[in-house]
Amino acid sequence: AVRKMIAPLDASKVQINKTKSPSKPKSNNELEFGKTFTDHMLTVEWTEKNGWGTPEIKPYGNLSLDPSCSVFHYGFELFEGLKAYRTPDNQITMFRPDKNMERLNKSAARICLPTVNGEEVIKLMGKLIEQDKYLVPEGQGYALYLRPTMIGTTPALGVSAPDRALLFVIASPVGPYYKTGFKAVRLEATDYATRAWPGGCGDKKLGANYAPCVLPQKQAAERGYQQNLWLFGPEKYITEVGTMNVFFVFKDSKTGKKELVTAPLDGTILEGVTRDSILSLAREKLSSDEWTISERYFSITEVAEKAAKGELVEAFGAGTAAVVSPIKEIGWGEKDIHVPLQPGKQSGALTEDIAKWIADIQYGKEKRGNWSRV
Ligand code: PMP
Repeated sequence: AVRKMIAPLDASKVQINKTKSPSKPKSNNELEFGKTFTDHMLTVEWTEKNGWGTPEIKPYGNLSLDPSCSVFHYGFELFEGLKAYRTPDNQITMFRPDKNMERLNKSAARICLPTVNGEEVIKLMGKLIEQDKYLVPEGQGYALYLRPTMIGTTPALGVSAPDRALLFVIASPVGPYYKTGFKAVRLEATDYATRAWPGGCGDKKLGANYAPCVLPQKQAAERGYQQNLWLFGPEKYITEVGTMNVFFVFKDSKTGKKELVTAPLDGTILEGVTRDSILSLAREKLSSDEWTISERYFSITEVAEKAAKGELVEAFGAGTAAVVSPIKEIGWGEKDIHVPLQPGKQSGALTEDIAKWIADIQYGKEKRGNWSRV
């Protein structure tokens, strides 16, 4: 018997339909995160029956979907976020896109959407960037933010695994998160709302994880804190901050040894590409005589105790949008925990070093294995 071939995703089959009205690049100071998009988008449909269809690069525009589609009712949606950078020799490079594809596939598998050959999606994103390359901004802190997304498009109301899906990628020229250098933030340590829990799906990049986190963020903002420091469980473990991973630096007052610590990947933490990059670079660049690099549980109580003893040295969030985001205060209980900053500056010393290590790789000043993909 001849079995029908289920088509794999094939970037070489891409059809390109160019816009008839190319837009003018905005000047760098007009760029606002995720508000404007490039001229083209990438779409590719999948069906259980036939596999992946023809990838299309076409003018950016509305999607047309049946209102019964699974994405609208049960949240069959996942997304990724990564950036492409213009280097001084005028190449455009994506930062560690293979890591995003790995994570995309974990998210897809968790909500019964099809997994993809990540290499093919990377090639397709390359072709999309090629189309819109004149819209990729230039300069330190500027980049093209890429948003791969997958949705379930089965037009039926039953709760079941989608037999149709749409993968699409849109791209947004973006500027530095902090236009005038770092601006350290105040966090509210949040224990009245929980972002993720054991056995849940907080380690996947599903839209369903994000909508419920906006109300606690607004509530924290009403009290004067920009973001939530998400705590978990009776131990009040520190997990993440807002939509970033979080790092703390402690210094033992007896031995003088420093520790860079972040929460372990136990299923409640998003596996941040920035987090992973920071851990690799720190293990490589920081002397093990002076530093311990830890992925371990640590609680807000431990942070408060260390702060009281003068052992809290710095704290920062880590994610694609800002790379690192220094923290200056944490509201916990009756009073704020104060995180030291360097005199006259908006960050700690290691936070500043890490920002530079990563920017040097992203902007091509330093080569590092396959972290940059032309
Ligand atoms: N945690 C959460 C909840 C996130 O949404 C993100 C990405 N925005 C991160 C951490 C950081 O991940 P990455 O470094 O891959 O951007």
